[in-house]
Amino acid sequence: MTKFELLVIGGGPAAITIAKSIQDKMKVGIIRPEEHSMIYCAMPYAIENLLPLEKTLKKDSIITNEHAELIKDKVISVDFKGKTVGTEMNGEIGYKKLIIATGANPILPPIQGHNLNNVMTFKTEKDLKKIIEMIENGLEKAVVIGAGAIGIELAQAFNERKVETHLVDMADYILPNLVDYEMIEMVQESIISSGINLHLKNKVEALKGTETVEEVVLGNKQRIQFGPLDKGSNSKLPGLVVFAIGMKPNVELFKNTSLKIERDGIVINNKMETNVEDVYAIGDCCQFISGITGEVFPGKLATNAVPMGRVLAHNLLGGDRVYPGFFNGAATKINEYFIGGTGFTENTAKKFFDIEVGYAELTTIFPVMPGAKKIRIKLIADKKTHKIVGGQIISGEPATDKIDKITMAIQYGITLEQLEDFSYSAQPYQSFFPANNLIVKAAREILKII
Ligand SMILES: Cc1cc2nc3c(=O)[nH]c(=O)nc-3n(C[C@H](O)[C@H](O)[C@H](O)COP(=O)(O)OP(=O)(O)OC[C@H]3O[C@@H](n4cnc5c(N)ncnc54)[C@H](O)[C@@H]3O)c2cc1C
Repeated sequence: MTKFELLVIGGGPAAITIAKSIQDKMKVGIIRPEEHSMIYCAMPYAIENLLPLEKTLKKDSIITNEHAELIKDKVISVDFKGKTVGTEMNGEIGYKKLIIATGANPILPPIQGHNLNNVMTFKTEKDLKKIIEMIENGLEKAVVIGAGAIGIELAQAFNERKVETHLVDMADYILPNLVDYEMIEMVQESIISSGINLHLKNKVEALKGTETVEEVVLGNKQRIQFGPLDKGSNSKLPGLVVFAIGMKPNVELFKNTSLKIERDGIVINNKMETNVEDVYAIGDCCQFISGITGEVFPGKLATNAVPMGRVLAHNLLGGDRVYPGFFNGAATKINEYFIGGTGFTENTAKKFFDIEVGYAELTTIFPVMPGAKKIRIKLIADKKTHKIVGGQIISGEPATDKIDKITMAIQYGITLEQLEDFSYSAQPYQSFFPANNLIVKAAREILKII
C-alpha cells in the first residue's frame, strides 16, 4: 500500500496551496478525480469567448513541479483509525496526516423539474463544455437563477453570445451579499439596458416539460417559454436553465464518520485542525468564522481557501500561526463597472453593530487627465469603536486594490481617525489630486456625523 506523510483529498486552490507551500519537505500525495483543475473564476469569460476554454484549465505541473504526487482518482471511503483512504481505482492509500480539501458543490434545489435534461449548475469543466456547445448549437434562451457574482457573470456571457437571457433572484437587488442597493442601483440599470431580462423579488417555482424544460414558472406566475425540443430537425436548441444560487460543502464522504460537520461544513479550529487527530480541513468544505465578529459566517471563496492552506502548511512545517477568519473581499465586473465589496454590507453590519456610513466620489486619476473615470466608495463603521466593518466600491477601473486596502483596515482594526491620517500617494495617471483620497474622504464623512 502506498503511504504518504501528507495526503490531500482535493485538487482545487486549497490543495494546490499545500503542494506549493510544502514542496519537498514532506512526501505529499494529492488525490483528485477530474482530468483538469479549473480556473473557476475565468469560466464565464470562456463562455463569453474572451478566452479559449483551454485557458481555464490548470496544468498538472502546478502540482507535480512542487514535488507532490498527483493521483487522479476519487476517494470513496476513509478510515481515520487505520489512517487510510479507499479509492475507486488505486485501492487503499495510507497517510500520516490527512488534509480534506473537497470543496463545495453548487446547490440544485429540488423543485419540480430540477432533473430535466436542460437544467444544470455551473462549476466543472463538463458544465463549461456543455454550455459552450449548446451556444454553438444555437441555444435560444438561458435562464440563470441567482444574481450573485457567478450568476451575473454567466448571464452577461449568455447575453454577449446573443442568447436571450433571463436573470432571476429572490432578492430586491443584484449582488445583495456584496453591496447595498444605493451603490448598485445604477449598475443594475445597466444590466437591463444591456438586454438582460432581470426578474428580481422573484423565484423559480417550477420547471415544466417532459424530457427537457419547456416552461419556467416564476413566483409571480410569469412564464418563460422555451418550446419543445425538435429532435428530428436541425432547429435551434430552445433553452437552458442554470442555477447559481450558492454552494454547499462537499462532505458526503464523511457522513458516517466521527468527523464533526455542521451546516456550513467541516468544523475546524483556527489552525485548521478537525476533531479527529491528524486530520485537517481547508477551503470551501469547511465551516469557519467571520474575522470581524468571530461568529460562524459563510466564506466560500478561493481567496479564503488559499490563506487557510498557507496557515496549515506553515504549521505542518513546525510553525505556529492561526487563521484570522473570513473578511470576504470579493469583486466582479458588470458592463463598464468594476464592483467590489468587503467585510459586511450595511444590512448585515446592522445585525451586529450600531453603525454609521459614509460615501465619497472622486475620479480614478486626476480629473484633468484623459481617461479619468468616476469612482465611488461606501464605508461602514462601528459607532462605538470607530473601526471599519465594511466597504464597497463602484469604479470605472479595476477596484480590487482599493477593496484590499479596506479589508486591511478591517482586518487590522484601523479606526476612522487612523484612516483620516492615512498617508497616501498621488500621481496624475494613477490617483486623484493630492488634495484628496477616496478612503480618507469617506472616513472624514463618517467622522463629521458621529
Ligand atoms: C464559476 C466560479 C467562479 C468563481 N469565481 C471566484 C472569484 O472570482 N474569486 C474567488 O475568490 N472565488 C471564486 N470562486 C470560488 C472558488 O472557486 C472556490 O472558493 C475555490 O475553488 C475553493 O477551493 P477549494 O480547494 O476549497 O475547493 P474546490 O476548488 O472546489 O476543489 C475541491 C476539489 O476536491 C475534489 N474532490 C471532491 N471530492 C473528492 C473525493 N471524494 N475524492 C477526491 N477528490 C475529491 C474535487 O474534485 C476538487 O478537485 C468561483 C467559483 C466558481 C464555480
